[in-house]
Amino acid sequence: MRYRLFFMKIGILPLGEITPDLLGGLQQGLVKTFPDTACMIIKKVLPVPKLAFDKKRNQYSSSVILNEIRAYASKHEKLHGVLGVVDVDIYVPELNYVFGEAYTPGKAALISLWRLKPEFYGENAGPDVFVSRALKESIHELGHTLGLPHCARSLCVMHFSNSIFDTDKKQSLLCDQCYLQAALAISNLGKQP
Ligand SMILES: [Zn+2]
Ligand SMILES: [Zn+2]
Repeated sequence: MRYRLFFMKIGILPLGEITPDLLGGLQQGLVKTFPDTACMIIKKVLPVPKLAFDKKRNQYSSSVILNEIRAYASKHEKLHGVLGVVDVDIYVPELNYVFGEAYTPGKAALISLWRLKPEFYGENAGPDVFVSRALKESIHELGHTLGLPHCARSLCVMHFSNSIFDTDKKQSLLCDQCYLQAALAISNLGKQP
């Protein structure tokens, strides 16, 4: 039997202007976190869909943006997952805001940088804190695309973040159990024809 090398291919898709430093940080971090994973930054920048803006809430619908990312993913079959990154405030109807959203399982994930920036909380933290928060939320949402549910362990990256305190508390790592589940899902992707 011959084994062929398989890599899960993730594309990071900016919607609106996102700094290269942040995108590069995510790319590096994602490759380190998930086994057998390759990650590229998509050169094409999509606009944040105008349709997603809710005037009353002064926020953008996460689901409308996620739909756009799914449309992109379905046109790019070589990618196993697409992580959209926006710098606008996003919401789902039942919550005040969200850090991100994803299809579970699926090919499309989204994170918002809006509430991850130290400035948003009047904090005087450096860029490392910002990148680390964005990476945690990215791993979390991509974990969902692999079918991972929320994890009860508060330090695991798959733990639900209700606020930035939860995000800061958890590590940018999958716990052993979630890691195994992710590795299995990735190897199953490789078995698909
Ligand atoms: Zn989640
Ligand atoms: Zn876990």
